[in-house]
Amino acid sequence: MKDSNKDKLDKTDLGFETLAIRCGHPHTNEQEHSEPIFPTSSFTFASAREAAARFGGDEPGNIYSRFTNPTVRNFEQRLAALEGAERCVATASGMAAIMSSFYALLQSGDHIVCSRSVFGTTVVMLEKFFNKFGVQTTFIDFTDNDEWKKAIRPETRLLFLESPSNPLSQVADLSYLAGLAHDNDALLVVDNCFCTPALQQPLKLGADVIIHSATKYLDGQGRCMGGAVLANEEIGEEVFGFLRSAGPAMSPFNAWVFLKGLETLSLRMQAHSNSALTLARWLKTQDMIEHVYYSGLEDHPQHQLAKSQQSAFGGVVSFRVKGNQAAAWRFIDATRMVSITANLGDAKTTITHPGTTTHGRLTDEEKKVSGITENLIRVSVGLENIDDIKTDMGRGIAAL
Ligand SMILES: *Cc1c(COP(=O)(O)O)cnc(C)c1O
Repeated sequence: MKDSNKDKLDKTDLGFETLAIRCGHPHTNEQEHSEPIFPTSSFTFASAREAAARFGGDEPGNIYSRFTNPTVRNFEQRLAALEGAERCVATASGMAAIMSSFYALLQSGDHIVCSRSVFGTTVVMLEKFFNKFGVQTTFIDFTDNDEWKKAIRPETRLLFLESPSNPLSQVADLSYLAGLAHDNDALLVVDNCFCTPALQQPLKLGADVIIHSATKYLDGQGRCMGGAVLANEEIGEEVFGFLRSAGPAMSPFNAWVFLKGLETLSLRMQAHSNSALTLARWLKTQDMIEHVYYSGLEDHPQHQLAKSQQSAFGGVVSFRVKGNQAAAWRFIDATRMVSITANLGDAKTTITHPGTTTHGRLTDEEKKVSGITENLIRVSVGLENIDDIKTDMGRGIAAL
């Protein structure tokens, strides 16, 4: 890598949008303008002595892409700058990020307090797999500060949540929960997938660990799977230690795609948020829509809290139609432009029926406490013209 004037730019004073474009961009001797990509599984050494020094940890440098890779490192540097983290560890998927941080931070006998409104697979991982190794989890209503307090035990090591939540756009008070975690010698882990650092920076609110599914907004165009764990140097090193042994590392190609995705993150999150707010307000005026869930709406019970810790409200809007499951399905089937898929965070608007897809594994009782009613629809508002999105939703309403 060439040591050019560009590499000497002091990155600490740059704004978010600039860091998203300029941070983590090495310049090789080829003077390429776009970020280089290093699709290589292993690296060579100048001599046997150098190989021994790298393996022994006496000299820095790449060995093998399960441990480190330059393109992956560039993605890590860029995302760390955006979240204000000392360390970022990239992973093969969002679930690999959650798994790696749990493995690194927990041991048998530990306890987790977890929001009931987290990604469904997170619940499966905790209940089915971590439980098997003696790690117990208590699931609670994450909007109720007292429930967190009551669920904490002497062996509680982590508080885990997503804010805003999927699909109901509920919000937790991150500063309060960081204080509560620290008073009890526990760590606050926040899955920041729905806001991304463009809208919310949990470490600055006191959280200890941030989880990302890069698959969603960080890529933003539904192309690649990836994830990341962000934390201080000490926690980051623990997570990295697990990852290099266990193996769910990010591929260099995916890291390169995410680097390009981050360049437009701020613009995209603003556009997703603006269109989502417009759509949410419009849906509220429709007679056949029973209720709209979006923390950007002034009458959302946690609107003020969301406003105090987020700079906008994100792209996910959920709503209940008047009628039963058949009505919700009729709505979805009547759309012509938006994609029927469970994925979110894409330039393309997506629509899904949580009760029979993303949250289909929940029992009736669990659905009831989580507010996943049979007439609930979730839309991840994309970047198409908002009038076209509204027209398509109008087709759904007409079918009710
Ligand atoms: C998608 C998602 C995950 C899991 O990420 P993958 O990249 O699919 O493994 C975790 N948390 C949230 C909030 C998600 O939306």
